[in-house]
Amino acid sequence: MKPVLLTLVLIVASSCGFIGSLRPGPTIAPLISAAFLSVHLFTGESGDAQEKARLPELRDEIASALPNAWATATVGRGQLSLRTDGDIDVELDGTNGTSVLMQHSLGGKVTSRTIAVHTIDGSRRLTVPELMATVLHELGHIWCCYGPGTKDGHWSDPPADFSSVGLMNSPMTCRVTPGKDPICPSVFSDRELAEMRLSGR
Ligand SMILES: [Zn+2]
Repeated sequence: MKPVLLTLVLIVASSCGFIGSLRPGPTIAPLISAAFLSVHLFTGESGDAQEKARLPELRDEIASALPNAWATATVGRGQLSLRTDGDIDVELDGTNGTSVLMQHSLGGKVTSRTIAVHTIDGSRRLTVPELMATVLHELGHIWCCYGPGTKDGHWSDPPADFSSVGLMNSPMTCRVTPGKDPICPSVFSDRELAEMRLSGR
């Protein structure tokens, strides 16, 4: 039996422009480990006055919540720490845009990775839960998803309804009830954990 949803519930979708999906898979397995990941989270210079004022608060909120969010997302199999000299740079960009993981490679080897997380989607200023899910999604792209059942780095069979499990769908669906914080996916699915080499043994 399906639960009856309030008519006020809206579904908000967030899109991702993953770059690096033109290849069938990583030539060399990523050297970054999802089990011990370090992230450099910082704010960009662009955005309107309101967003520029919001960025430091967003950064602090996301920074303090990200280690636990990563542990939750990886069902306790991954640790994440924030460091200035991290495995990967994550920039909060206060402009409208599509969030993306950019991978630069040289001779088939990934030499650098940067994630740009845009804090505005269209005319909407994204909330912390949405931004957190976006950060987790883009980090997931370091390893996921390639091969059968995927398209452009995402699963080709996204769930029809909101699910808290499964972070690598595009668009990503969050459930929004007016007056409340959105609820976004927060846990990697089994097949995502497998691609991240975090399957339980
Ligand atoms: Zn994506």
